[in-house]
Amino acid sequence: MIGPLQDQFDRKIDYMRVSVTDRCNLRCIYCMPSEGVKFIEHHEILRYEEILRIVRVASRFGISKVRITGGEPLMRRDIVRFIASLSEVSGIEDISLTTNGVLLKLYAGDLFKAGLHRINVSLDSLDPVKYESITRGNHLSDVWEGIEEAERIGLKPIKINNVPIRGFNDDEILDFAMLTIKRPIGVRFIEFMPIGAKEIWEERKYISTEEIKNKIRVLGDLKPVNSDRQAGPAENYRLPGASGVIGFISPLSNHFCSTCNRLRLTSDGKLRPCLFSESEIDLKNPIRNGCDDDEIERLLCLAVQIKPQGHRITERMPCRFQRTMSKIGG
Ligand code: SAM
Ligand code: SF4
Repeated sequence: MIGPLQDQFDRKIDYMRVSVTDRCNLRCIYCMPSEGVKFIEHHEILRYEEILRIVRVASRFGISKVRITGGEPLMRRDIVRFIASLSEVSGIEDISLTTNGVLLKLYAGDLFKAGLHRINVSLDSLDPVKYESITRGNHLSDVWEGIEEAERIGLKPIKINNVPIRGFNDDEILDFAMLTIKRPIGVRFIEFMPIGAKEIWEERKYISTEEIKNKIRVLGDLKPVNSDRQAGPAENYRLPGASGVIGFISPLSNHFCSTCNRLRLTSDGKLRPCLFSESEIDLKNPIRNGCDDDEIERLLCLAVQIKPQGHRITERMPCRFQRTMSKIGG
């Protein structure tokens, strides 16, 4: 290893979120506008070989964790082959994937064999009618079967990501919290963010972590759980006697910028140092114009150097971002 990537604010950057596609088989109301989005042209999407080259160079600088995301990563052809190649990159110790779970039952076994370590499944409702109104898709039973298949083959830990939105699914917070009592899964509540489908965002629909925690406390005390380095920005707790853990991710009420250890790579090859900043550094064109690895190293270091100290999203609401979450890579 050449040396760890360290930014101006002494944060060590060892985690890269890689978006492999902006396509998706769902249209979640908070992520994509109802009219749909204009997809990035196929030839603008990084080829797997190009992503692997970037990850190889980044791993020399201490990037050891990679999360695959999208859009819906399981929609991209040959995703299993890609993960198998990624797991052979020296220095990459942890590979995880965020999925909506629709295709998980089909892929869980092969992903596990390919070297995937962990999986996060986004699920915002356990009620089929509500699930359909949130995702504009009718796949709740597929997602649930996918989670059970992932559990069966040993993809651990499985985490369910849930975005509570006032008036949509906040009446299910306790049902999700109770999933952790009997099953060794993690349920993570993520604060609704003003990014993605602009027509849906309203401040009154946002529910803070504090409010979610207060609702859950009717089930018992939330005992803090020591977070390991893989826990990322989540604050973790356990209900009395529960097998699984409840996590809270609070990008708005308690932003975790001071410990942020990540860079994002968009599917069209831009390095994005912060989810909430539009600054991006292009890697695709330099690579396609024949640059050498030294140039990739230089651009990676530049992205780390321009990583902002923190976001100021709460001062800018309502926000206007060029990219939806599916295009950035959530
Ligand atoms: N399609 C995959 C999925 O849904 O898990 C991966 C990509 S999706 C953009 C990643 C995560 O971003 C999901 O857990 C989703 O709930 C979250 N997300 C999207 N828009 C959001 C918003 N406005 N506020 C909070 N979370 C959001
Ligand atoms: Fe697709 Fe994930 Fe966005 Fe939903 S949150 S539309 S599943 S990318």
